[in-house]
Amino acid sequence: MNLLKEKIISEGKVLSDTVLKVDSFLNHQIDPLLMKEIGEEFANRFTDEVITKILTIESSGIAPSTMLGLTIGAPVVFARKRKSLTLSGNVYTSKVHSFTKNETNEISVSKDFISSDDNVLIVDDFLANGEAVKGLLDIAKQAGATIVGVGIVIEKGFQQGGQLLREQGLRIESLANIKSLANGKIEFFD
Ligand code: 5GP
Repeated sequence: MNLLKEKIISEGKVLSDTVLKVDSFLNHQIDPLLMKEIGEEFANRFTDEVITKILTIESSGIAPSTMLGLTIGAPVVFARKRKSLTLSGNVYTSKVHSFTKNETNEISVSKDFISSDDNVLIVDDFLANGEAVKGLLDIAKQAGATIVGVGIVIEKGFQQGGQLLREQGLRIESLANIKSLANGKIEFFD
């Protein structure tokens, strides 16, 4: 997706050989027009699938997921990273180790919003080691839902998550796939 790649090149900041900061359009400030394009691109890529629910994780997965939900007319459910007083008891939970924060969170999703009737597409902002996606897959499986695939805004293909998940037979569509961040330079796979 060229618009996204151009935005990553012009505004992305390489923090290290493994971490990219995209705070100006995805992780802090949000570019709504870019999010709209991202939502439409995900919709096009999964046009052959019936999706009844989009499952993501707070907070940066919410904007692209919502734009996809708007495009295809499906609701978005986001896993919470912190326990909420209003979300007690009736929840699916899973543990997710955060690559950027180096902490493990117990994520949770209310049983009210995902069920065995759902065809779920998982969406997230980044794919690195695959921990976040694995946690969301675990929750969708606990609910007995059918998993349609995974939509990722920015995959870092030099980390192992994408390969591990694809080896499990999962369909993963990433809109930009980064080959390397070495020496402060952003390179994409074609
Ligand atoms: P994974 O769980 O695949 O190891 O990492 C994906 C999660 O970590 C995403 O939800 C994202 O928030 C965060 N993340 C991983 N790598 C990066 C990165 O290079 N930049 C930013 N901004 N977030 C990242």
